[in-house]
Amino acid sequence: MNCVICKQGQTQPGLVTVTLEREGAIVVFKRVPAEVCENCGEYYLSDDVTGELLERAEEAIASGVEVEICRYVAKAISLCENSQSRFRSQGF
Ligand SMILES: [Zn+2]
Repeated sequence: MNCVICKQGQTQPGLVTVTLEREGAIVVFKRVPAEVCENCGEYYLSDDVTGELLERAEEAIASGVEVEICRYVAKAISLCENSQSRFRSQGF
């Protein structure tokens, strides 16, 4: 599709890193499938993917995690590790 940001590039399937920050919690999703603009780098997530990311972020916030890093494998969130205890012990 045409990129709506720069209006010049075309998007191509690719993998992006998405960071969601809410209420002091940060959740990073790596290797998220997206359409990426070849010109400006803007990315577009499908509704399904967006819903899944928001759901996972809500869970992380609900469990009191400060930082969580999740990796997408085969189009699903498969591995999450939260860094709360590590950061805490370093006085973060
Ligand atoms: Zn663009």
